[in-house]
Amino acid sequence: MIQVCLVVSLFIFGLYLGTYLRDKELIQDQITTSAKAHFQNIILTRMWNAMHGGVYVEKKPGVETNPYLDNPEFTAMDGRVFTKRNPAMMTREISELAAKKGIFKYHITSLKPLNPNNAPDEFERTSLKSFELGELHATTEEPRDDLTFFRYMAPLETTEACLACHAKQGYKVGDVRGGLSVSFDITSTKKALAKNRNIVLGLTAFSTAMVLGVFLFCSIRLMRQLQAAHAEIASLAITDELTGLTNRRQFFTRLSEEVDRASRYDTELSLIMIDLDHFKTVNDTYGHPAGDIVLAEIARLLLANVRASDIVARYGGEEFVILIPAMKAADAAKAAEKLRMIIEVNAIIMEGPSINMTISSGVADFKSVKLEDGSLKDALIRAADKSLYQAKESGRNQVVIYKAAKEKHLPLV
Ligand code: GH3
Ligand code: MG
Ligand code: MG
Repeated sequence: MIQVCLVVSLFIFGLYLGTYLRDKELIQDQITTSAKAHFQNIILTRMWNAMHGGVYVEKKPGVETNPYLDNPEFTAMDGRVFTKRNPAMMTREISELAAKKGIFKYHITSLKPLNPNNAPDEFERTSLKSFELGELHATTEEPRDDLTFFRYMAPLETTEACLACHAKQGYKVGDVRGGLSVSFDITSTKKALAKNRNIVLGLTAFSTAMVLGVFLFCSIRLMRQLQAAHAEIASLAITDELTGLTNRRQFFTRLSEEVDRASRYDTELSLIMIDLDHFKTVNDTYGHPAGDIVLAEIARLLLANVRASDIVARYGGEEFVILIPAMKAADAAKAAEKLRMIIEVNAIIMEGPSINMTISSGVADFKSVKLEDGSLKDALIRAADKSLYQAKESGRNQVVIYKAAKEKHLPLV
């Protein structure tokens, strides 16, 4: 059962985990696609700038001149001063603007930057080295304070337009001259993912608990039904169907136990063997079903008139036995006599006829037979049977006690 629960739990967990991982992958793809779009956007802007050999902006307060450019300024005829914005500086300024608005950050860098301020950080340095080995892009997630940033970097290849400024660094067209990294805040996405993960764990726990609960409930019910069925089978195996008394097989089991006990503790043990007188006539006169009713009623009368500790069994067709622990034959014979009288005076009433029955009994006790040959239980049965035969011979409707020493069977009445 534990194994089944484990498999079910693992299956449920696997389903949820699979869904969660798929979602996570899609979200990661979405983030990377978004980073690539930003990257392409700035590359296009830079290309446009480089295509025009840089663009000029009016030098107003706050607009600095790029010190790394030769002849970066000119004065227009109207006296206004314009200063050059090359791709690198334009990128930096857009990045600063985007960062100020809390949207994105771009950084253009290389392993040999013209401007030392553009030196790569750790992620960028590693990425640039990997680009030289043929990697096409690099990504990472970086925690900063309480936030998480997604970083994407791809290489910038040297074009004809780049050489105008960068030829002196030894670059050729097609060389990886550096890279552009994009970073943006993905804290809310990470939080949503973490929430998703917790929901998955919660759902797994809940579903597993539900499945286990139902499983346990059904198992316990099934087990109870099985136990009840087992108990019924066990009871059927030891019960006589017609009379509800202990059956012959169970009687022999109990007889062995009681004989063993009596031998070990040297106590008394008596057996009464009972046979219905002229029972065949009942069947012949009233029919077999009526005979069955008589047998069941006699069984009920016997059981109702012995002690709870006595074992009343159906021995054969119309024969019954009563095993009485801790009682010698003389006393057991009194009990047998009481039963004989009860049967005699209680007419068995059924639809139509009312039938009067008598019984004959042979009584023997364990001590009077224990010196005989064979097993003690066989000897006890044989002795009771002999006495019963004697009772029949002597006219029926009577009790006979077995007397071993003289091999004499005495009628009680
Ligand atoms: P006796 O006084 O000598 O014992 O005579 P009896 O007729 O009782 O003995 P007998 O052995 O001649 O007949 C026993 C009858 O019991 C025969 C058999 O058909 C009947 N019998 C045995 N088992 C059942 C049963 O389960 N139901 C019914 N209705 N009859 C049964
Ligand atoms: Mg008989
Ligand atoms: Mg009989």
